[in-house]
Amino acid sequence: MTTATNTESGTLTSFNPATGEPVGDVPITPSSEIPAIVARAREAQKAWGAKTPKQRADILRPAGQRLLDRATELGRLLTLEQGKPLADGLSEVTHCGEKILSEVDEIADAVAPRELHAEGMVTTLRYDPLGVVAAITPWNFPMLMPQWMVLPALVAGNSVVLKPSEQTPLIAQAYADVLNEVLPEGVLQTVHGADDQGKALVESDVNLIAFTGSKATGQKIMASAASGLKRLILELGSKDPLIVLEGADLDAAAEFAARNSFRNCGQVCVSTERIYAEKPIADAFAAKLAEAAKAYPSGDPTAEGTALGAMVMREQKDLVVAQLKDAIAKGAKVVFGGESLEGNFMPATVLTGVTHDMDIMKAETFGPLAPIVTVADAEEAVRLANESEYGLGAVVFGPEDKAQQVAARIDAGMIGVNRGIHGAPGSPWAGAKHSGIGYHMGPDGHRQFCQVRTITRNA
Ligand code: ADP
Repeated sequence: MTTATNTESGTLTSFNPATGEPVGDVPITPSSEIPAIVARAREAQKAWGAKTPKQRADILRPAGQRLLDRATELGRLLTLEQGKPLADGLSEVTHCGEKILSEVDEIADAVAPRELHAEGMVTTLRYDPLGVVAAITPWNFPMLMPQWMVLPALVAGNSVVLKPSEQTPLIAQAYADVLNEVLPEGVLQTVHGADDQGKALVESDVNLIAFTGSKATGQKIMASAASGLKRLILELGSKDPLIVLEGADLDAAAEFAARNSFRNCGQVCVSTERIYAEKPIADAFAAKLAEAAKAYPSGDPTAEGTALGAMVMREQKDLVVAQLKDAIAKGAKVVFGGESLEGNFMPATVLTGVTHDMDIMKAETFGPLAPIVTVADAEEAVRLANESEYGLGAVVFGPEDKAQQVAARIDAGMIGVNRGIHGAPGSPWAGAKHSGIGYHMGPDGHRQFCQVRTITRNA
């Protein structure tokens, strides 16, 4: 919960969503100052971009250890500001630190020039910096999301202006401060504020806008970017389905569904938000999921054993409660959880008897709800799973061959079969349909922060 908004100056106070207490504040960046900040970034990029990717990786690498050294303190700040359990705040910071240590080299390799040889010619394929990258990030992984954009952008030789979510400015600023201990001045800057600052940054003289957030904001950004034909990487909403087929290992499917619906209070872009279970196993699966949900108690995020902390803000919880009420009014049955708790807390909730006329099956939920639709067969499951404007992730549990056949027919960017969606190292993080444009990760994802150029000579 943050006082947010379209303020042009003053301070942005960040509140603890679990207690309502202020955690700290940052100065709001007046929108009128953003063009000068971007101009500074452009100037700083010249020397930074002139270094090799390997030199930039070497400069950035020590920031990984600095994050690890401060993981306890920063993990706590992340939790106080965002509401996820302390263990999750800590692991987000630790993950970021470890990833810096390993990923800077991966990125440097991906963007290093390479040669293509043919009869009588040699082409040098270069992955040059684009210039200034605007990174506009959400609050659900308030350190990891900035890192996903900032790290490849920087190693590729761009300078970056980061505009973190107004819900989580403190941890993003702390992250930028750690990187700035090792970076030359002006290469990474932050701007703080809400829509106005985001809009001003998008309208400024940047070369690429990397954005993760809502579809509505993504559309505004795309429209604004059109006039300058600015490059875009957009990761937008999703409504990930889970299909559970007859013959699936129901314990494994329920354990996965619980984890993937409830972690971070469901505030994850690849959360399971729709479950389709084949009729013969639907009741047994629902019972197992209700049982598995017991392992996800809601409470004080700083207390030992809490699995669901506070939702990030009241408005987010209200959306979730509205979807829950709509589903119940239209005939869904709560088989676990379901009561709206005090403050920003919401329990792990399992629903059965869900149908596609309910809001919960259409709009993004971003809350700890696991709605189960009973389907006649795999055919109906595929049809309903694909009946969404979104297509980020999807998971199928079932007998291996059949599950793989079903997976191949789902219109999503990342699909897991009898496991989550995370791919082997080097896999891209990609969305289909309205879940995004462009993608992150893997060599191809890293190269999206580059201008590809070919220089061809006679052999
Ligand atoms: P969420 O639903 O995750 O809060 P939003 O799309 O509202 O997502 O916000 C994600 C990020 O986009 C935040 O940093 C927010 O301040 C920023 N933002 C909001 N409106 C705009 C806009 N019109 N242009 C650019 N950035 C914006």
